[in-house]
Amino acid sequence: MIGIIGAMEVEIESIVKELQNKETINLKLRTVYKGTIDNKEVVVVLAGIGKVNAAITTSILIENFDLTSIFNIGVAGGVNGVNHKDVVVSEGVTHHDFDVTNFSDYVRGQVPSLPPVFKADENLITKTINALEKSHIEYKVGLIASGDQFVTKKETIKEVLALYPNLYAIEMEAAAIAQTAHLYNIPFIVYRSISDVLGDEAQHLDFNLFVKDASENAFKVIKEVINHL
Ligand code: SAH
Repeated sequence: MIGIIGAMEVEIESIVKELQNKETINLKLRTVYKGTIDNKEVVVVLAGIGKVNAAITTSILIENFDLTSIFNIGVAGGVNGVNHKDVVVSEGVTHHDFDVTNFSDYVRGQVPSLPPVFKADENLITKTINALEKSHIEYKVGLIASGDQFVTKKETIKEVLALYPNLYAIEMEAAAIAQTAHLYNIPFIVYRSISDVLGDEAQHLDFNLFVKDASENAFKVIKEVINHL
């Protein structure tokens, strides 16, 4: 069974519409939409915003369904040359706001006893690149960083870029989903399409302007990849 997680309604509505044989399952904290896409069994869930919501939701999904892979789809702030509506595919995901670097040899973003970056599944990355190559969507494969804040402040952008010069997208859930998937040993991948570009004048206005189209691009990618799973 394929698990799909989005933080906001706009990020999951197209994939939920795509479900055949749709069932709605009400669990204590989350509503799960179960069905098939291209004859593959899929569960879709709305996580809510931020890392705590994302971790809880991922755990609920894993504990209640027999997942073979987890996809996180949605939007993000872009950096290092990505533009509105481009798609960033996770090679790896980290927490930009996790910091115990005062102790021992931890690097920034690293949770003790866990790797500094959670690596997305190689096979899923390859399938995703194949799908994207056939699309008209611009994309990058690289690092995504998560933290519990909508990042617009110049100082934060500067700090995060100094830590992760290769970063392409910043958002608020992926690392929590990746960490949970890692702990349960389930392959994962993240697709984030750019709603706002870090450092632009009015990022929150751009977010509102592009959130729908960006969500649609992440949906197009996952739909194509599911067809090839
Ligand atoms: N408009 C929403 C809040 C959106 S928070 C509300 O009113 O409830 C931003 C969401 O988009 C998060 O889920 C996050 O993952 C993503 N995101 C997009 N751009 C971002 C940025 N610049 N910084 C952090 N998260 C961003």
